[in-house]
Amino acid sequence: MAKQFTRPKGTRDIYYEEALIRRRVIDRVRDVFLSFGFSDLDTPAFELLETLQAKSGPEVEEQIYVFDDKGGRRMGLRFEFTASLGRVVASQDDIVRPFKRYQIGKVWRYESPQSNRYREFYQADVDIVGPYTMDCEAEIMTVVASALAEFGLDDYVFLLWNRKLLKAQLAVAGIEDEALQGAVMRGLDKLDKIGGEAVRKYVVESGVPEALYERFMALVPQEEGNEAILESLERTVGEHPQGREGIDELREILRLAAGGGLAEHIQLTPFLVRGLDYYTGAIFEVRSPALDNISFGGGGRYDTMVRLFGGQDAGAVGFAFGVERLVAVLTEKGLVSGPRCEALVMLAPRNKALVAQTFGLARELRAAGVPVFQHLGAQKLAKQLAYADRMGFPYVVVVGEQEVESDVFPLKDLRTGEQIEVPRAELAARILA
Ligand code: AMP
Repeated sequence: MAKQFTRPKGTRDIYYEEALIRRRVIDRVRDVFLSFGFSDLDTPAFELLETLQAKSGPEVEEQIYVFDDKGGRRMGLRFEFTASLGRVVASQDDIVRPFKRYQIGKVWRYESPQSNRYREFYQADVDIVGPYTMDCEAEIMTVVASALAEFGLDDYVFLLWNRKLLKAQLAVAGIEDEALQGAVMRGLDKLDKIGGEAVRKYVVESGVPEALYERFMALVPQEEGNEAILESLERTVGEHPQGREGIDELREILRLAAGGGLAEHIQLTPFLVRGLDYYTGAIFEVRSPALDNISFGGGGRYDTMVRLFGGQDAGAVGFAFGVERLVAVLTEKGLVSGPRCEALVMLAPRNKALVAQTFGLARELRAAGVPVFQHLGAQKLAKQLAYADRMGFPYVVVVGEQEVESDVFPLKDLRTGEQIEVPRAELAARILA
């Protein structure tokens, strides 16, 4: 038997309906980004490893696909777009701030693959670089909400929190050491996956005294509802400078986002941490019950990034949809569907002598705006029609001698089985109707 070649683990081959749906989802998301005035940016799929490592922290660093190029340079495949954005903004003088840009493409992470977790996936990313004001967070959440509204998805929630509150809670609890703070955050980031007890064990084994962890946990609001959570924070960390800032920022984001009609979708979530080290302020994720409440997008504020890449200080807020997960949510809710290909009609030449005329008709129809699939391969008509059924084209037109002579063609609707005779000049309008 011939050798079978397999795909790398955690990757997928997608085609027909699934590929078409993903492309359409990406196109619509891009259109929404463009409608908010985000501009295009393209950066390399691989970067010098040091660029990717500059600001990400251990959690993703382990996941970078690393290789040496032929010149012996250490390279990595991008695992998200933010590091490249930071490098560009820091190194290009002609970029004016605020810089609102989007980028959509593949990213790679060496993760353990499971359902909805791949080693190669698409992200659709929007970021605003420049301002430190909370209108940026509100704008990012609004553009995300607009994209979801574009698909008719209402069943989702933004989880919102602020790194400053975590820092304040840690400090008030007496966990001041940065490494220990990092251990608590990494532990909490796994909360959904491993549960509270396992997090405690992880944190204590990482060197955080259990009593301090207890104290920290007692500062985490247990209340439900945004206002109740804010009041609890006022009591526990309202006097701490970072706590104060964190509370004020959350209030401001909620106020501005309410102006954009988002209020009922935002849920303050005291255990939201997010994996990446570089966040400095607000952090948010978007989840839907349609996808078991795993995040299908996430982001936050990362004000130190541009400076770390050697540029002038700049505020920055960003968000990335995981496109496969967004598609999964929309599919689960029945909000996207599609055919195997975009063609609305298949042209079937009755015999070899009619192929040239078929090219002519195809050209005319395409010029009139009809996507046309011309059958190739000089097969018998019955085979061509069976093919059309399998592909699910809405219409078939058989091109025979008589039709070419009379300029009247049989337009068969494969969904209903009905066939009507249509003059050549009216074919396009009928198909597009
Ligand atoms: P992150 O950059 O980790 O904040 O991820 C942003 C979004 O990308 C997440 O909300 C997911 O939707 C998506 N994502 C992250 N990792 C994966 C993965 N391994 N496979 C598929 N989607 C992912």
